[in-house]
Amino acid sequence: MTGAPLTPPRLRDDCFAMPQGVDWVPVQDALSRLRAALHPVTGAETVPTHAARGRVLADDAIATRSNPPRPNSAVDGYGFAHAATGAGVMRLPLVQGRAAAGQPFDGAVASGEAVRILTGAILPDGVDTVVLEEDCATGAGHVAFDGPIRPRANTRKAGEDVAEGQLALPAGHRLRAPDLALLSALGLGKVTVFRPLRVGVLSTGDEIIAESGAPALPHQIWDANRPMLLALASGWDYAPVDLGHVNDDPAAIAARLDAGARDCDVVLTSGGASAGDEDHVSALLRARGTLSAWRIALKPGRPLALATWNGVPVFGLPGNPVAALVCALIFARPALSLLAGAGWVAPQGFAAPAAFSKRKKPGRREYLRARLNNAGHAEVFASEGSGRISGLSWATGLVELPDGAADITPGTPVRFIPYEAFGLR
Ligand code: AMP
Ligand code: MG
Repeated sequence: MTGAPLTPPRLRDDCFAMPQGVDWVPVQDALSRLRAALHPVTGAETVPTHAARGRVLADDAIATRSNPPRPNSAVDGYGFAHAATGAGVMRLPLVQGRAAAGQPFDGAVASGEAVRILTGAILPDGVDTVVLEEDCATGAGHVAFDGPIRPRANTRKAGEDVAEGQLALPAGHRLRAPDLALLSALGLGKVTVFRPLRVGVLSTGDEIIAESGAPALPHQIWDANRPMLLALASGWDYAPVDLGHVNDDPAAIAARLDAGARDCDVVLTSGGASAGDEDHVSALLRARGTLSAWRIALKPGRPLALATWNGVPVFGLPGNPVAALVCALIFARPALSLLAGAGWVAPQGFAAPAAFSKRKKPGRREYLRARLNNAGHAEVFASEGSGRISGLSWATGLVELPDGAADITPGTPVRFIPYEAFGLR
């Protein structure tokens, strides 16, 4: 797909359809359905490797040359042919000149002779072994050391890191700083990557004031979700698109979704996603888009409204900032990753002893705002209220309680998923 501006197929309008009669969907089933419904939607472009951090490879990166290209020395010392050495004190005449990184030795080193060699220098003809400088004495044009030295000691083979033609990184890999080192070392100064996923973020609600700090009456609240979701998108290395805020007015929401579908690859809305009288986003998506309201057995979170609008996927997240964040981390993150070409992702959590007590009924999965205390035990935020935004900042991650019943007392192992594992920073 090198260079060509691909136009991948749009999503099918019925891609989010749930089978008839499905009631509460376990989180895992919802994730599997979402995964099956989506595919990469962005085309490819070529960019300089130095500017490619966070981008997703659209092609396999194949080494154009071996690294290292030739055998070289791993240390500063003296190089020689192993065959001419043995046990006991070795005393070899030094040839004139030296081999240094970027300054190859001009000529060959005869068997029984040694050459001064520095780290990174190509092994001169005749040299296959290097003795460490600290293990040597030099004087009167000779070097002396204790044998035996292991054959090829302190040397690096050509291609021992990566051989020419070898796969360095696969398509779908998201490039991190160390990957830029690898690609650059292999001569891959340009890479073919997916165009960044454009993630539109729209807030809805008559009570919402778009700009924090702007004059607000007591019945009005400042938009907390939009800055959070835009920051999530940019933290995930996507291109955030601020679609602003609209009131609970179907025409206004529709106009903004039209703009979103034009300028974005995916749209995240918050608010109005449930099925009540004031849930205008889901009402509109039901009437004009292709809504599928997923009733997910999840706390916090209410139905997740999934739809396409002019072929662009729309994630209708709950309005409560706590539920909006949990739904974004659990559902939107892997979905966006798949849309962006980086494949499905699952956060890596680990077991930590609980520092709390909680009895949970079976039937739905729960995520609690949590952090590790100094003993490495997971403590949870004092209130589970989904309007308590302060708990999101107090936390450093989430505790995931399984779908089944759980009776947790201090010391019970629970699954802690650090914010970092959700790519949240
Ligand atoms: P809704 O999903 O529209 O029923 O909203 C649920 C709760 O979340 C209500 O208390 C809303 O006021 C609140 N809410 C909705 N959108 C936002 C937002 N963008 N920022 C902060 N709170 C919000
Ligand atoms: Mg509302």
